[in-house]
Amino acid sequence: MKAGIVGLPNVGKSTLFNCLSNAKAQSANFPFCTIEPNIGVVNVPDPRLEKLETLVNPERVLPATVEIVDIAGLVKGASKGEGLGNQFLANIRETDAILHVLRCFDDDNIIHVDGNINPIRDKETIDIELQLKDLETVDKKLEKVKRAAKTGNKEAQKEEAVLLKIKSGLESGISVRALEFSEDEDIDFVKPSQFITDKPVMYVCNVDEASATSGNAYVDLVREAVKDENAEVLVLAVGTEADINELDDYEERQMFLSDIGLEEPGAAKLIRSAYKLLNLQTYFTAGVKEVRAWTVDVGATAPQAAGVIHTDFEKGFIRAEVIAYDDFVHFGSEAKVKEAGKMRVEGKNYIVKDGDVMHFLFNV
Ligand code: GDP
Repeated sequence: MKAGIVGLPNVGKSTLFNCLSNAKAQSANFPFCTIEPNIGVVNVPDPRLEKLETLVNPERVLPATVEIVDIAGLVKGASKGEGLGNQFLANIRETDAILHVLRCFDDDNIIHVDGNINPIRDKETIDIELQLKDLETVDKKLEKVKRAAKTGNKEAQKEEAVLLKIKSGLESGISVRALEFSEDEDIDFVKPSQFITDKPVMYVCNVDEASATSGNAYVDLVREAVKDENAEVLVLAVGTEADINELDDYEERQMFLSDIGLEEPGAAKLIRSAYKLLNLQTYFTAGVKEVRAWTVDVGATAPQAAGVIHTDFEKGFIRAEVIAYDDFVHFGSEAKVKEAGKMRVEGKNYIVKDGDVMHFLFNV
């Protein structure tokens, strides 16, 4: 599962990517500075993991991770192959969620490709390119399904109706994610088509230092513009955080963060939000050798969760011993949880909950 960072040139994508990962993507004051997509694997900051560490005192601790891709090169006309257009769109297609960076800071030294600062126009520029690409997809699909629909094939007729609805939405500038479908339509026709504008999105407003906690007038405009999209809007002083990141000393970094009113880097919050956006959740294993956060889809069953550790665990799954995170913390150890009768034994239909501390029993 990976999230892709998109946005117009010079809005701060590479800087954000650098903030998030240790990989050093180029960042310079001109368009197209990042040409190949940069992929970074980022630890998901999770205070629960630190708590478990203090309780269990293991040899090592492994956090969950999420993949972030810096996708450069989207400009007006990208859907027609301008700039790095088509390559860019192919990269976006491979992501599972989109982090859309919007420039919400003034700085005359940093050129804006369209002359002045206007995050709403920027957002629309990007949206239109993505929508045009989806329109191509829809038209191809319509072409295929049309004949079967004409001969009276019921499934084809249903699909055609859904595609026509998408087409007319896209033509009026509405992304697929904002259209309403029945559950069946969504599962049978919409989701399998993997439209770019159906991917979940989060807007990242890149602000100046003074607006790091409160946002600013640009951010207000963004919130207003996306209020019907059911999407999260996150405020982040990307440039400032990048500068703070350069400091080697942890205490010093914390001091600068609190100077701008933050307890933790905004980037940490962004990663956690991206994780949620990807519909992921965490369960833990907590042994003396290793305390570890594992990633599963929301809705995963116990055997599927076991399968994340090893496919054999899933195949040979017998049962899981499960402790709710709060119980683990409350009683302080696995032994005490057991004593208190709070350890549950769950079978193969158990739906994993975020924060479960799990132990699997399986046949080999
Ligand atoms: P990209 O083209 O979207 O990847 O943009 P970059 O991350 O390369 O940033 C373009 C320029 O804007 C660089 O010179 C950055 O240092 C600068 N920049 C990025 N974020 C901020 C910010 O929050 N404030 C200011 N003033 N400059 C920023």
